[in-house]
Amino acid sequence: MPTPTPGGLPETLRARGYRLTPQRQMVLDAVVELGQGTPEEIGDRVHGISPGVNITTVYRTLELLEQLGLVRHRHFGHGAPMYHASDYDTLHSVCHRCGEVAVIPGELLQPVAQWLVEEHGFALDTGHIALAGLCATCAGDPSAE
Ligand SMILES: [Zn+2]
Repeated sequence: MPTPTPGGLPETLRARGYRLTPQRQMVLDAVVELGQGTPEEIGDRVHGISPGVNITTVYRTLELLEQLGLVRHRHFGHGAPMYHASDYDTLHSVCHRCGEVAVIPGELLQPVAQWLVEEHGFALDTGHIALAGLCATCAGDPSAE
């Protein structure tokens, strides 16, 4: 399965009320390019491009990106957490009225994916699912059709 690049994310982040600052984009790019790395390794790479970014910012950015489902971390032994880009389990919801896009944790679809494979032998490609509906703004708008 090709790895979707988390490149088209500015709109997604804005839709969630986050701004994809150049720093955040840089940290995300560093994780994607490294494959996986500790916050220090990711920080080193970001530093190579932008020496002004400190490690605290890198830590905070990684936490934010993880909340958004864009990166994951795991621990190996007692070492520092290893961060990697999540390339398969990020879902999106799309408002079919205004087009707002939001990121949804892919784990939510796990029971569905499991049922499909058990009952139908159907392998759901959760990396390519967008759930259509109305965003909170449009759902509450009386002029919505
Ligand atoms: Zn909407």
